[in-house]
Parts: sequence; C-alpha cells; structure tokens
Amino acid sequence: MQADFIMLRLGELTLKGRNRSRFEQAALRDVRQRLRPFGGIRILHEFGRIYIQLNGEPYAPIAERLGRVFGLHSFSPVYRTAADLEAIRRTALNVMRSLPSKPATFKVTVRRTDKNFPHNSMEMNHLVGGYVLRHIDGLKVDVHRPDIELHVEIRQQAAYIYSYVEKGLGGFPVGSNGKALLLLSGGIDSPVAGWLAMKRGLEIEAVHFHSYPYTSERAREKVIDLAKTLSRYTDSIRLHLVPFADLQTRLHQAYRGNLEITITRRMMFRIAEKLAVQRGAEALVTGESLGQVASQTLRSLDTIGRVVSMPILRPLIMMDKSEIMAVAERIETYPISILPYEDCCTLFVPKSPSTKPRLIQVEFVEKRLDWMAEGIEQAVRNTETIVVSEEAPQETDVFF
Ligand code: ATP
Ligand code: MG
Repeated sequence: MQADFIMLRLGELTLKGRNRSRFEQAALRDVRQRLRPFGGIRILHEFGRIYIQLNGEPYAPIAERLGRVFGLHSFSPVYRTAADLEAIRRTALNVMRSLPSKPATFKVTVRRTDKNFPHNSMEMNHLVGGYVLRHIDGLKVDVHRPDIELHVEIRQQAAYIYSYVEKGLGGFPVGSNGKALLLLSGGIDSPVAGWLAMKRGLEIEAVHFHSYPYTSERAREKVIDLAKTLSRYTDSIRLHLVPFADLQTRLHQAYRGNLEITITRRMMFRIAEKLAVQRGAEALVTGESLGQVASQTLRSLDTIGRVVSMPILRPLIMMDKSEIMAVAERIETYPISILPYEDCCTLFVPKSPSTKPRLIQVEFVEKRLDWMAEGIEQAVRNTETIVVSEEAPQETDVFF
C-alpha cells in the first residue's frame, strides 16, 4: 500500500512568531525546488502545513530529497481518507497490515482539528484501536512504549493516517538568514562549516584559492565536487575560483619568515571580502577550529581576521576533529575531502609557522610588499566563477 500524501512539519520556524510566514514561504520554495524532477506531484499549503500529493510518484526518492531540505523538522507518508468513522477504521487497519514488519504492540493517537466531528479524540482512540485489535491476531496495546504509534488526524475535509515519522534536518530554510561567502578549501573542515552555515539559513557562495599550475586540475575538480555535494542541500552553488599562485610566489620571493602563512591568509581574507561585497554577502565563513593548526591559535585567528571588517563566522571553532569528521561523513563530503590532491597552502610551507604572530610585526612586513594591493585587485579581476549543481552537471561560466 503506497501512501498518497507526505505531510511535512516545519522545524524551528514555529518559534519565530511574526517571521513565521516568511520562513514558511522559504521552506515551501525549497521543497518545490528540490522536488522539481517529480512532475506528477502537487504541493499543497494549508493551515501551516505542507502536504505533497504523490499522485503515484514514488515515496523513497522524494523522501531522500526532503531529507536534505533545511527547515523541515520531520515528515510522514500519510494515507488520506474521508473524515468518517468507517473510512478511518478501514484505512487504519490497512496501514497496520502493510507495515514492513509486524508490530507486537501499538497505540492510537487521535488529533481532531474539526471539532464538529461526532466523536471526540478519546472516543476515537477506542473506536479505531478496538477495531484494529479485533482484526489483527496477537496485537496488543501499549500506551507507554508501543512498537507503532498510529496517528489519526481528523480535519474538516479529510482524515490523515500515518505511523511513521522521518526526521528532517531542522534548521532554517537556506537564504532565510542572509548570504555569506564560504572559504572552501579541499579539506575536511570547510565543507562542514559551509553546511552548518546553510543549516542556520545562510545562502552560501564559495570561494576557492588555487595555485594552478602548481596545483593540478584534479585539485580543482575536487573542490568542484565538494561544492556540488553541498549544492544538494540547496539548488545550486556559485563557486569563485581565485588564481592565487602569483601572490604566493611573489610573497615567497620577498619574504621567507615564520609569518608567511599569516600573511598568505591575510591576502586570502582581503580577496574574499572584496568578492563578498561584490556578491552581496554579509559575512565570511571558514572551517577554522581553535588550536587545530598554527594559523588557528587565538592570536593567529585575530591577526588574520583583522584585515576584514565584515563578520567572520567560524561554525567549527569549538568542535573536535572527530565531531567535524562525523558531520563530514553524514553529509558525504568526507570521501571527497580525503582524496590526496595538494592544496594551494601546501605550496610554500615554512618550517615553523608562528603560532603567535604579532600584528605590528605582520604589518611591518606587509608595508614592504608594495605589489600586494595591485596583486589582490588582479586576483579579484581574474577570478573565474562557475555555478555547480547536481541537477545540471554541466558547468556554466558566469562573469561578473
Ligand atoms: P580545511 O579542512 O577546511 O582545509 P584546515 O584545518 O586544513 O581546514 P587551514 O588549511 O588552515 O585549515 O584552513 C583554514 C580555513 O581557511 C579553511 O577551513 C578554509 O575555510 C580556509 N581555506 C584554507 N585554504 C583555502 C583555500 N585554498 N581556498 C579557500 N579557503 C581556504
Ligand atoms: Mg586546509
């Protein structure tokens, strides 16, 4: 027996009071977008609920996509029937009979939004529960820890019956909290940071610094694949590829001290902020995590972060590597991240990068680098932008 509807419950949105309808609209838009390939379905929005009428389209692939929509708290395959006692009883029994494994215990939970329905919720619990018990041998009621909870929702136009609740991702619909630019490396951390930012309702564009021709085409493909994997949680992601080799080489020729990484990263941040402003993004997002490497000590984070004035969001700042890896596995970026292609930052690594770079020292060194401002402008100008999406595997070149 195939469910005829999917009932969606919106997540934290309920907490947002007057913003609720805006969030609901955003969630609805995301659901529509993600389910575009399923031409037969109809999406209904009524009384704060979203229903998907399947019209024969398969549940499983739709559920898989719904599992990647931020803002959904949970969803259930539901069976719709007339708001009438006999119809409800028959459907309830069919639902119980078509479960993949036979439950030993169950309970019925009735919710009634139509107060004119002739029986109240308590009566309906007995009327439906008793009927099911009489028709299935060996089944028992357990109100505390049932194997199956059979939900019956009685509304004016129809009754909805379901037994299964699938957890959604929660969070906020992508874009409902603004837009940020993700610094996306080929590592494990930054894709996770991007995903967490999206979960909080940020629309993400990504920027990647590459050192082509010192780094390979494969390294580029890897970052595109990571962005593509993230795009499964939204529609598509705009990825900015910044040629960084020139700046790195020039810096390396001019300065070879233990502040090289600090200065390299300050150049990255300056470029990222310029791109963010061009793209209307209001924050930068990085995969930095406190203490992970020399450039992520408190002092380093501060010295590096001072070159930009927009907020730098660091979703992983207090997370352990194992926690970060668990998310990376879950969102399927991990196997891509561990591919062994070199990153631009491995190009010139000083023997002992400073863990306590002093701002005045860094500024002193940078003052002598008179080519830097123009180099940064040039990198921004030569940035290549592509739009990645799982739906349309072809890359589209887009120019500013
Ligand atoms: P990750 O696993 O995300 O690469 P990491 O632990 O290797 O992080 P770093 O290499 O120091 O740490 O980078 C810290 C952060 O700086 C990254 O999480 C990412 O946000 C940004 N970053 C580093 N390299 C690049 C790059 N080549 N392009 C874009 N952003 C980068
Ligand atoms: Mg890295």
